[in-house]
Amino acid sequence: MSFRPPVRDDLAELPGYHSPQLDVEHRLNTNESPEPPPAGFQQAVVDRVAALDWHRYPDRGVTELRTKLAAHHAAAHPGITADNIFVANGSNEVLQTIMLAWGGPGRSILTFEPTYAMHGQIARVTGTGVVEVERQDAFTIDADHAIETLVAQKPIVTFLCSPNNPTGIVEPPALVERVLDTVSEFGLLVVDEAYAQFSDWTALDLSDEDKPLIVTRTFSKTWAMAAARLGYLIAPAWVIERLNTAILPYHLDAVSQAAGSAALDFEDEMNARVARMVEQRGTIQAGLADLGIEFWPSQSNFVLFRPPNSTGNEVWQQLVDRGVLVRNCASWPRLDGCLRITVGTGVENRAFLDALADIVA
Ligand code: PMP
Repeated sequence: MSFRPPVRDDLAELPGYHSPQLDVEHRLNTNESPEPPPAGFQQAVVDRVAALDWHRYPDRGVTELRTKLAAHHAAAHPGITADNIFVANGSNEVLQTIMLAWGGPGRSILTFEPTYAMHGQIARVTGTGVVEVERQDAFTIDADHAIETLVAQKPIVTFLCSPNNPTGIVEPPALVERVLDTVSEFGLLVVDEAYAQFSDWTALDLSDEDKPLIVTRTFSKTWAMAAARLGYLIAPAWVIERLNTAILPYHLDAVSQAAGSAALDFEDEMNARVARMVEQRGTIQAGLADLGIEFWPSQSNFVLFRPPNSTGNEVWQQLVDRGVLVRNCASWPRLDGCLRITVGTGVENRAFLDALADIVA
């Protein structure tokens, strides 16, 4: 065998992030929108793509999309301008760019576990240390303990996720405010709001040019555009300047930029999708309650639940056997026996509840 140069020692030991896909009738495992975008959106993208200068690099500044995003947010949060927005290939790349700029050897981030595993994963890939703080039994954060740990550890970046994946819980505004005040002395606060539109408040209420607050968003959920890989963040202009140093030139292709700009013309349709999913979430939670199954009330487009008398793995397999794929969190740290269902269409959610009733009967 020819010589294979070793990767960095820390990377060699790192397991990858896995999200297995199976070919089943109802795929309710990755928190995508169950509905495609509106038909008019697809035609708008086709028209924009036909008009592109294909032989030219895309607009490096992503000007149109950032301007439209700023207008979209300024309605509820005046003061947000295009200078406060950074766009990349999915919010995962947005998070990675934060870590490229602020992470690295000798630096640490802090997470409240369990939470979105990619926060720690991206940090580790960029050679950044990770301090994990445990949540309480109901997956809430003990504010006093959080502040004490922050002051002791002084992480360069603190991550919150609201609503939190995989628990669906929204962080209380008072907690986020206290954490922000505390980290302002030594670091940044990232609030990952991939699922914000399904909840009743946003950390954008706290944004201010003088506060080190970054709020991340995605087109993959509400905007029904997981295929396009588009995410963005809202932060003070001085944060955006630093991110632009870390990101590759022309990182966001013209087709993705066009798709994002087109999507923002369909805000009403997107809001209607969110309303339907929130209603369906209620149906799923009521169905779980009727079956006597433990679940965590969600303000997102997924629900974490724990089937009784099971390691979780058997019930996951029995659901797959009935054509329903949910996320198997049963072996994840702190989530013994738990499964997570993404809110699907009415038909899909019914199929899930019927299958589960059959299994637990
Ligand atoms: N943040 C959270 C909390 C997520 O759950 C996800 C998707 N699973 C992402 C970020 C990444 O989303 P994307 O890269 O598709 O924008």
